Amino acid sequence: MAEAYATLAKPTILVVEDEAPLLTLLRYNLEKQGFRVEEAADGQEALLRVAEARPDLVLLDWMLPALSGIEVCRQLRRRPGTRDLPIIMVTARTEDQDAVRALDTGADDYIAKPFVMEALLARIRALLRRSSGVAVKGTLTYRDLTMDQDAHRVSRGGRALHLGPTEYRLMEFFLSHPGRVFTREQLLDAVWGRDIHVEPRTVDVHIRRLRKAINADHEPDLIRTVRSAGYALDSEDH
Ligand code: CA
Repeated sequence: MAEAYATLAKPTILVVEDEAPLLTLLRYNLEKQGFRVEEAADGQEALLRVAEARPDLVLLDWMLPALSGIEVCRQLRRRPGTRDLPIIMVTARTEDQDAVRALDTGADDYIAKPFVMEALLARIRALLRRSSGVAVKGTLTYRDLTMDQDAHRVSRGGRALHLGPTEYRLMEFFLSHPGRVFTREQLLDAVWGRDIHVEPRTVDVHIRRLRKAINADHEPDLIRTVRSAGYALDSEDH
């Protein structure tokens, strides 16, 4: 646990950004908040820096030379060592399509340029909170699904599942209240926190990712969609 607290005390953020003035501004603000900052100016360098610096979170610009942010994100998600690394994608465009694409590629959150520094810092803090687990630990189960909160492991029918930090928190929340239906707003409050603004449709994207992670082809879907209400951990086949 000492190690976890040490990490919590001063988390390292890798900022991947090719605009030097913005990089300087981000470094200044992040360091002021007590974060350690590592930098990369293009996609190739980002992949190298992740391996060397082992950051707690990556702030990843979408438009980058050498390798786009989307491609970097895809590659990090493919590697076992960085599959669960918290990633916030910075998009230059405001279209919803881009946000959904960023999340579908495996980013945990996104923010559109130009952004307010306080909003970005709130998202970074919220994501680090989600990825660092909870204080009360134990084992949660539902049908053939098991979550070992001490080891931070989730399995279904003995098969290890790989969940991103947001999916893990969603699963943890559902497992703490099996069978109960939650609205998107309730899930946002419980998993993302009240202090940041997130579009309700973001919940749908993460539910889709959670389903993909926990349900193999032949297995019943353990998450029930309740039309015009929300979601529940509750399979429909019984
Ligand atoms: Ca850029």
